[in-house]
Amino acid sequence: MSSHHRLDTNVPGPLYVTSACIDCDTCRQLAPRIFTEAKGFSTVAHQPETGLEQKQALQALLACPTAAIVSEEKSDIAEAMADFPLLLEDGVHYCGYTSPKSFGGSSYFIIRPNGNWLIDAPRFVPSLARRFEEMGGIDTIFLTHRDDVADAKLYAKRFGAKRIIHAIEREAQPDAEHVIEGFENVQWDNEMKIVVVPGHTRGSMVLLYRERFLFTGDHLAWDRHRGAMEAFEDYCWYSWEEQGLSMERLAVETFEWVLPGHGERVKQPPEDMKKAMQQLVNEMRGR
Ligand code: SF4
Repeated sequence: MSSHHRLDTNVPGPLYVTSACIDCDTCRQLAPRIFTEAKGFSTVAHQPETGLEQKQALQALLACPTAAIVSEEKSDIAEAMADFPLLLEDGVHYCGYTSPKSFGGSSYFIIRPNGNWLIDAPRFVPSLARRFEEMGGIDTIFLTHRDDVADAKLYAKRFGAKRIIHAIEREAQPDAEHVIEGFENVQWDNEMKIVVVPGHTRGSMVLLYRERFLFTGDHLAWDRHRGAMEAFEDYCWYSWEEQGLSMERLAVETFEWVLPGHGERVKQPPEDMKKAMQQLVNEMRGR
């Protein structure tokens, strides 16, 4: 029997959030009409009514890292399970099933003709592993930094995938197959570029795919309240100054998606992204 209770901030109805919530933001991103922030937790602000809202609420329930979302209504959970990984665009997917080991960090799956990539890792869930298998398995797991490896080892074992991590972060995945040394960019192949971005941790890396999709780990994310790019000074474990310098180096790159581990995903035209990055660089210099 769970020791967690229904939060009194939830609106009446069969869907609610319990005190097991760790305020990771996953549900608010997946179902923004249903879930909102309240007193350091998420809470149900609106009971799902339409088919789309029902579906999004169930996706959030499945993606929640701590099973803090409860639905007392009979629902087709199998259908929602089949939605993951969720297609974002051009073979790039959001995995869902976040892990408490990474504090609900987001992970991503890319379909590629010469082998699929996982960017950071979700919870190991057999139904998700089966979906990955149906979609061609996993060839490579790119780990942005030590905090967001979650169940990477289990997925690597299941699919015989090789893992890439920076040498400084290696204690989080000691048996990783590829270790990046130093602080220079690495052009991995004609579509994948690794940019080392010390700051949040000393060996943090981001991955630029096709000059369109930037997987950022905990280096940067979108701030939906300000409509601007953000970095997290309160969660900077190594050096805020270094993180600012890494941001400057990253700002010269071209991309239209920011796909973070923590924080909001965003897509913008490349010229708007450049302006948003420059604004963040200026803010970090000025702080
Ligand atoms: S996904 Fe779960 S843990 Fe994360 S904010 Fe929502 S209810 Fe809380």
